[in-house]
Amino acid sequence: MSPESELRIDLAAAFRLIHELDMHESVANHLSAAVSADGKQFLMNRRWMHFANVTASNLQLLDSEDSSIMHSDEAPDASAWSIHGNVHKALPQARVILHVHSTHATALSTLKDPRILPLDNNTARFYQRIAYDTHFGGIATSDEEGRRIKDTFGDKQALMMGNHGITVVGKTVAEAFEDLYYLEKACRTMILAYSTGQALNVMPHELALETAASWDEFRGASYAHFEQLKGMLDKKDLSYRD
Ligand SMILES: [Zn+2]
Repeated sequence: MSPESELRIDLAAAFRLIHELDMHESVANHLSAAVSADGKQFLMNRRWMHFANVTASNLQLLDSEDSSIMHSDEAPDASAWSIHGNVHKALPQARVILHVHSTHATALSTLKDPRILPLDNNTARFYQRIAYDTHFGGIATSDEEGRRIKDTFGDKQALMMGNHGITVVGKTVAEAFEDLYYLEKACRTMILAYSTGQALNVMPHELALETAASWDEFRGASYAHFEQLKGMLDKKDLSYRD
């Protein structure tokens, strides 16, 4: 199987899994994966395609240097074109980009202070590894909005988008999916902890840094988790591989 065929299957699996986890949104939100070494060619879901209907073969191959597709019947969603095109092109760590409006991350994004505080293992995983964009400019359809989001990302692995949702980037679909999975869990912990109204027992800086770093030893778990989730999909419905 070619590397692109394998990438298509993994990305299609991510759509189905995000749907199963109820982290999808109507026929909106986008996941993409770079195909070319320079990140200019990438795979993304077609405009208004429900996550549950995405398959390996119906993912659209796009070229961020060729905007002629935006004037055709095949045009992808304009906001996704702007954000994913700019981020793939500019950030070498962004081989895979997952953008969702999942419940708890979006709830946290609406707070005046949307930071994920180091409260437990999962929240500390993102300590100093997530960027925050608190300049929401409406639904991003302009190129400037895409460029601003790319600049805010910097070298971080995730972006909390104020009043909006989250975006995670990674080297592979499995690694980005794992970060998205833990990010939503971390945001759920934040919301639940805040909802008690009690004072939060925030880890000291050094401990939070150490805890975040110790997660690096568990990168391999991303692949074990993703492969087993794919196995569960395979038992239920193989159509994502078509
Ligand atoms: Zn969005």
